[in-house]
Amino acid sequence: MTGGAEPSGQVSDEHAPEMPGWRCGSCGEDWPCATKRSRLLTEYGDRATLSVYLGSCLAAASEDLRTASVTSLQDRFIGWLPRGPRTT
Ligand SMILES: [Zn+2]
Repeated sequence: MTGGAEPSGQVSDEHAPEMPGWRCGSCGEDWPCATKRSRLLTEYGDRATLSVYLGSCLAAASEDLRTASVTSLQDRFIGWLPRGPRTT
């Protein structure tokens, strides 16, 4: 990791999860990382649709991360969502 003139793009900026550890492929945080969370909110806009998507991620992650508690996974995948209906 000493190369200097490497153009950015070497590391993906997708902030996609890496299986089976469910860490962000771009920044290495637990997925969804802070960057991905704000992107998801922007991408989906609709909290209900995003909840469905995150629910499916949670289901897959709980298969991979069997040592993690369900509560902590729920908190990690869904608990960060803004509460309440979004006024338009
Ligand atoms: Zn990330």
